[in-house]
Amino acid sequence: KKYVYNFREGNAQMRKLLGGKGANLAEMTKIGLPVPMGFTITTEACLNYYEEGEKISEDILSQIFQALEELEKEMGKKLGDPKDPLLVSVRSGAAISMPGMMDTILNLGLNDESVKGLAEKTGNERFAYDSYRRFIQMFGNVVMEVPHEKFEEIISEVKKKKNATYDTELDAEDWKEVIEGYKKLIREETGRDFPQDPKEQLLMAVEAVFKSWNNQRAKVYRRINKIPDDLGTAVNVQAMVFGNKGNDSGTGVAFTRNPSTGEKEVYGEFLMNAQGEDVVAGIRTPQDIKQLKEVMPEVYEQFINVCNLLEKHYRDMQDIEFTIENGKLYMLQTRSGKRTAQAAVKVAVDMVKEGLITKEEAILRVPAGQVETLLHRRIDPNAKVQPIAKGLPASPGAACGRVVFDPDEAEALGNNGEKIILVRTETTPDDIHGIVAAQGVLTSRGGMTSHAAVVARGMGKPCVSGCESIRIDYEKQEFKVGQITVKKGDIISIDGSTGEVMLGQVPLIDPELSEEFNQILAWADEIRKLKVRANADTPSDAQKALEFGAEGIGLCRTEHMFMAQDRLPVVQQMIMAETKEEREEALSKILPMQQKDFEGIFQAMEGLPVTVRLLDPPLHEFLPNEEELIVEIMELKAKGPSKELEEKQEILKKVRALSEMNPMLGLRGCRLGLLYPEIYTMQVRAILTAACNLAKKGVKVLPEIEIPLVGHEAELRILREAVEKTAEDVFEEEGIKVHYLIGTMIELPRACLTADKIANYADFFSFGTNDLTQTTFGFSRDDAEGKILPHYIENKILSDSPFIVLDRDGVGLLMKMAVEKGRSVKPDLLIGICGEHGGEPSSVEFCHMIGLDFVSCSPFRVPIARLAAAQAQL
Ligand code: ADP
Ligand code: MG
Ligand code: MG
Repeated sequence: KKYVYNFREGNAQMRKLLGGKGANLAEMTKIGLPVPMGFTITTEACLNYYEEGEKISEDILSQIFQALEELEKEMGKKLGDPKDPLLVSVRSGAAISMPGMMDTILNLGLNDESVKGLAEKTGNERFAYDSYRRFIQMFGNVVMEVPHEKFEEIISEVKKKKNATYDTELDAEDWKEVIEGYKKLIREETGRDFPQDPKEQLLMAVEAVFKSWNNQRAKVYRRINKIPDDLGTAVNVQAMVFGNKGNDSGTGVAFTRNPSTGEKEVYGEFLMNAQGEDVVAGIRTPQDIKQLKEVMPEVYEQFINVCNLLEKHYRDMQDIEFTIENGKLYMLQTRSGKRTAQAAVKVAVDMVKEGLITKEEAILRVPAGQVETLLHRRIDPNAKVQPIAKGLPASPGAACGRVVFDPDEAEALGNNGEKIILVRTETTPDDIHGIVAAQGVLTSRGGMTSHAAVVARGMGKPCVSGCESIRIDYEKQEFKVGQITVKKGDIISIDGSTGEVMLGQVPLIDPELSEEFNQILAWADEIRKLKVRANADTPSDAQKALEFGAEGIGLCRTEHMFMAQDRLPVVQQMIMAETKEEREEALSKILPMQQKDFEGIFQAMEGLPVTVRLLDPPLHEFLPNEEELIVEIMELKAKGPSKELEEKQEILKKVRALSEMNPMLGLRGCRLGLLYPEIYTMQVRAILTAACNLAKKGVKVLPEIEIPLVGHEAELRILREAVEKTAEDVFEEEGIKVHYLIGTMIELPRACLTADKIANYADFFSFGTNDLTQTTFGFSRDDAEGKILPHYIENKILSDSPFIVLDRDGVGLLMKMAVEKGRSVKPDLLIGICGEHGGEPSSVEFCHMIGLDFVSCSPFRVPIARLAAAQAQL
């Protein structure tokens, strides 16, 4: 089996085998770009390494050495040659890019002898020893696992002695001193010497890259991004080119378009006289790529040409790594660039206009799950904000929260629901769990392509980086800007679109959809068949839903109308009623209130369907909490007898009478309608009177009356008759008839299993997948989300929470069955979904697959659902 490929043998299609980096290095070689030569050890070799119990097999070893021999021949140099050594980089690269998660080693092949050869051959002693110390440092850290800081400490000491601020101020002699310090450090830390044999170095490095597939941060990254654990990483061994050879050398990273806004402009950074990692690590703050035009005009022009060529070739925005050696440009990596949702939308629309991609491709280029960030709040432009500092606008959006300096603490607080801003001098991949838990990230060092910026953009979190005016003191847990001191726990706001940092909480406003986003959504609307409705309980929600493109209301929960402050007393009176008459009297007070609500909603949704669900929750939810009542009663008792005391005691009795072992499975939904028919009668009256009133004014209304929690067709049969009876009464009183539907929420397994019988009494079905998931899994949502599901996901028992991503195999199967059974009786049965899954892209896709007519979700998720519905179609 072939485990090693020369760059000339591969291409971009082979990313599964060669990893993304290797496949694209091969592709760039193929299209004639200047790529240093090298070879790729496949992901299969990595899997084999693990199968063999963490051992590189003989076969693979011999293929590696053969490839090395060929490379040496082509380069005319030998690895570790004491006169003129070949140096290589050993680079990780998985099939799915995991930036910065695994390890790379540069300048491999140097040792005490070959460093002299390098110095002599290049006539640049400083360069040679700088390269050597970098190699020892990376190798010592990655392969021999000596902490990074310990190396930095040694450099700091030498710098201090020399009174130097930047690495570039150190000369060859200084580096020699650093190297001695490093070697001693490694001996002390690991009990063995830094290896001098280049072949041994190479094999140790390859092995370390294989191992890095399973390091902690790579695992966390895969879990967050849902990347399978069994792909393995490839290893690229590539001849070195040097950006640290002097002032006509340098290194940089750049995007072919702005990854934050999507603007068509090269965007990135470079550092002169530096090597790869320096730019991303945020050690010195780099220069804007556009300045390269002044520094080296010819290289800049060549670089822009390469950018254009790569975009045309890949038909997507690229993220490029390059190095300049003595004025010559080399390409070291290209991949499609990670971008914010805002940029994804703009790039996709622009590329359609440029004729690079089709509308369909554009729709598929925008991750539906990510556009939620476009619907996030931003700082009110009319608010007076006083920035205390300004950094780089590294990832857009606004965030407010308490300052936390430590990623572990950030994780703990964030998981507790605290809103926090993680403040660091710079972030490393080891901080990723802290970033996940934070609202936003603020760093004092590093550029727009620094680790913090890349990771934050990937997660859609606001980030301000390179905010150099803040001085962080981890010891004291505070940072200073000018005269101001901000301590741990203080609230700050950051604006990742402008780079501004503010004290305290600033006012945020709702977002508007950009022109480009509306364009994508308009294309999506042309394509999709699945309709998108919104869950809305008030006229203002309904208005919002319309603005976001909803085509109706799929769920209007009437209980929210009961909760309003001024209504609760009447609702409680209704619940406290001893007799039917008393209850009807209370209900008659609620009726005009509900009727007014419905008129508002129907008016807002003129001409579009509105599904109104009759009362669903257990009645005790409208009564005060038992423990609080007891406390109040004790207090009243102490003051002696009173009317208020009697009333409270009555309420307590009722609360106790209504209390259930398991309210989720208790007296709720249609069971309420069957035990207390007058409640549903009042609601139907309110709905239909409202509809008649509007119809009289010429407003077109399409009410759909929905009966919740039906598990047996007899429940629906009885309630349907009751609804029809009330409707007749109302139409007679009003002297006008309106068209309306009666249907049911499908949210119990039994309803799915007997959907053919239930369909006899239903004009429509709407899946209530929140309850259906609870009852199918036997999970009580409130309990499961606290302890059980986090454990399940952590341990990969489940890949996602079934309350977020619809469980296709179980809950989905029941849905599919219900659709088939229902339509076997009524081929045109209208079927939708109104659980929270209705706005989650993968669930929307599933709904499309099983032939639903609509999904319904919260107004803010409507654009996501429109996009996801179109993607499901493609
Ligand atoms: P990552 O996946 O973390 O980006 P890379 O393998 O891309 O790691 O290496 C990081 C950086 O190291 C590159 O961007 C480049 O600047 C530098 N580098 C890697 N290989 C070489 C090489 N052969 N010559 C010069 N620099 C290199
Ligand atoms: Mg890279
Ligand atoms: Mg329900």
